Amino acid sequence: MSVLIVGSIALDTVKTPVEEHADQLGGSASYAALGASFFSPVKLVGVVGDDFPASEFEFWKTRQIDAEGVQRVKGRTFRWSGEYAWDMNTRETKSISLNVFEHFRPELPASYRSSDFVLLANIAPALQAHVLDRIEKPRFVVADTMDLWIETARADLDALLPRVDLLILNDSEARELTKETSLIRAGRRIRDAGPKYVAIKKGEHGALLFGEDEFFSCGAYPLEDIHDPTGAGDTFAGGMAGYLAAAGGELNFAAFRRAMIYGSVLASFNVEAFSLERLRTLTKREIEERYQVFRAMSQFEVVA
Ligand code: AMP
Repeated sequence: MSVLIVGSIALDTVKTPVEEHADQLGGSASYAALGASFFSPVKLVGVVGDDFPASEFEFWKTRQIDAEGVQRVKGRTFRWSGEYAWDMNTRETKSISLNVFEHFRPELPASYRSSDFVLLANIAPALQAHVLDRIEKPRFVVADTMDLWIETARADLDALLPRVDLLILNDSEARELTKETSLIRAGRRIRDAGPKYVAIKKGEHGALLFGEDEFFSCGAYPLEDIHDPTGAGDTFAGGMAGYLAAAGGELNFAAFRRAMIYGSVLASFNVEAFSLERLRTLTKREIEERYQVFRAMSQFEVVA
């Protein structure tokens, strides 16, 4: 089963304490699409300018990513730049140039409208809703969001939540959205606002998953070398959505737990190199090997 993904497609400039790379492929949809494509075919929706490298369209073709829904318009591609502190966790946004993103109205090719699985990657909630309105009968909707929309588009976000099956957000966003300090309470409060499932990411400390009466806490894969954390959350969301779409009808809580571990595994690969470079060379076999190591590591026994 394929997964329709809408979000930003960007050219990012990222600086860490040791490296800086300019105008490399980024954006929530770029990371999510490549993450999901390891499990399911992807139908991508977004916008790029006439400065966007044609080679990316060629690359997507090799990765079961259908880019018919990516508009190429006159102007410059959306640009974002950020700088990481020594902890490789704290990040400051240095600049944002919306460019062609400013007047983006997502269009869906006819073949996209019957999509069952949808991932609304990080963009303004009004645009996420606009895409959802154009899908005939979405069966499972995953959405991501960010602090910016909680602060500037709260009403749109609140209206979207009842239409979402799985909301993915990070710990500070969950606290900001609910005004709760306890993440456990925040997870439950977000579920009350609509989504049947809520995944709260805690960066290098893993993630929490809330269902109706179910709860799962997943660690993060232990990595020594982190080169660029950009897009880890988007890759996590793409991996989860792609895995769930591939699981098709079998969406019990065990499937969500596995999806979360696969999402974490993909995110761990993503941060090993700048931009999407590690995901470009990643193989299914490497994912499976790390999944097994991570799964074994996550299980614990109580010794009496
Ligand atoms: P993350 O590290 O998961 O927060 O995602 C980083 C990606 O989000 C970068 O590749 C940026 O291009 C993209 N991004 C940054 N700001 C925005 C925004 N306001 N809307 C959509 N995408 C954004």
